[in-house]
Amino acid sequence: MRYFSTRNKAEGVSFAQAALTGLAPEGGLFVPEAIPPYPESVRASLGTMDFHDIAFETIKPYVRGEIPHPVLEDMVHAAYPFTAPLVPVGDRLVLELFHGPTAAFKDFGARFMARAFAYLRRGEEKPLHILVATSGDTGGAVAAGFYGVEGIKVTVLYPQGRVSPLQERQIAGLGGNIQAIAVEGSFDDCQRLVKTAFRDQDIQKREALSSANSINIARLIPQSIYYAAAAGKAFAGKTDPVQAGSPWAAPGAASPGTWSLLKPGQAITFCVPSGNFGNLTAGMYAMKMGAPIRGFIAATNVNKTIPDYLLSGLYEPRSSQATISNAMDVGAPSNFERMTAQWSLEELRRVLQGVWVHDEATRRIIQEVYKTQGYFLDPHTGVAWQGFNQLRRSCSLGVPVGILATAHPAKFAETVEPLTDLVPVPPSLQQVMEREPVAQIIPADISALLEVL
Ligand SMILES: *Cc1c(COP(=O)(O)O)cnc(C)c1O
Repeated sequence: MRYFSTRNKAEGVSFAQAALTGLAPEGGLFVPEAIPPYPESVRASLGTMDFHDIAFETIKPYVRGEIPHPVLEDMVHAAYPFTAPLVPVGDRLVLELFHGPTAAFKDFGARFMARAFAYLRRGEEKPLHILVATSGDTGGAVAAGFYGVEGIKVTVLYPQGRVSPLQERQIAGLGGNIQAIAVEGSFDDCQRLVKTAFRDQDIQKREALSSANSINIARLIPQSIYYAAAAGKAFAGKTDPVQAGSPWAAPGAASPGTWSLLKPGQAITFCVPSGNFGNLTAGMYAMKMGAPIRGFIAATNVNKTIPDYLLSGLYEPRSSQATISNAMDVGAPSNFERMTAQWSLEELRRVLQGVWVHDEATRRIIQEVYKTQGYFLDPHTGVAWQGFNQLRRSCSLGVPVGILATAHPAKFAETVEPLTDLVPVPPSLQQVMEREPVAQIIPADISALLEVL
């Protein structure tokens, strides 16, 4: 498979080049030359296949000739010791994407990307050194994704005292190949330091630096897996049993098995809480590959650049506003460029509807779903749940609807618990809280950073 920059269709690169460079030279994003359809035998059995087999079949054509089949097979097993259960909650399905080590869906992309990087750089002498600045969440997912991966070292910069205790433990509690640096300053200072370090001649000579940022194609492609798996299941009329770590108020509260709204042969509509739109773009890939998906709802908070675009046809990026679903506080979604490079506005409108939700309505729905269903929503998942409620009357969407649950509510307990009762903490997060954070503290100064690198 060749990959082209969204800003330069003339020159294709390999998967390895696209993954390891991240951003194309002229600032574009890499997209595959074509989205490969699933073979008919795979498409027809998505509902019964094992999650790892779907992962293998989904990624295979994108890395053909570059990652041998047995290696890819090992990679998807190592990356995903957890899966994405599809469970009925009230009148809809919830696709739980928070059973990984950082309890959020970014684990799916980050953990595959880490292993792909390690393989693609095999035999290189210098270890790959990944440098990231984080305001909290990304750092944890990247650290956990690369933890223990051979040939790669990660340095995470975060603003000292400005991340939550849980986030600090996710970033600075691992040790090993993960170095944590607490900067006496803001997130902007951290970002500035990372950018300056990338331009430093000495360090460039000494180290193989990379950024592993969220627009990397190697993070996007694996996010198609859970869409294909869930769509296949729903089409077969099946759901999953409740798993440990699922956020029910009481063990008896869940009542799958009695859910009668699901009939075989129906294509699902996914409602996706969106910020940078990587998750939704991956869903579009899964649909194009042939997974039985009817369409998508793009649900945002007040940062509604894309819902506005779908209505007006005008793309008007803006600065972001802070909300309680802060991982979606994005005013200029980077994957917009990827979506519009591959689909026209008319094509997008055919499969995609936008909706946006106020914090107030998000809070209300978290409370209501807890009261009526005994199920805890995190603020991001709350946006998706409420977004579907707002759209339901004005559109032709039917059953089944799948809400993407992008984070475990225990990650946002300070927002959720005042609206509910105590949120049960899943095993993954309990383990994180037991860690001792160890970070080097530096002033917001480039010479201090270069010294510790
Ligand atoms: C990153 C994130 C999102 C937004 O995903 P995009 O791919 O940026 O649209 C939604 N929810 C949570 C919990 C996230 O961490």
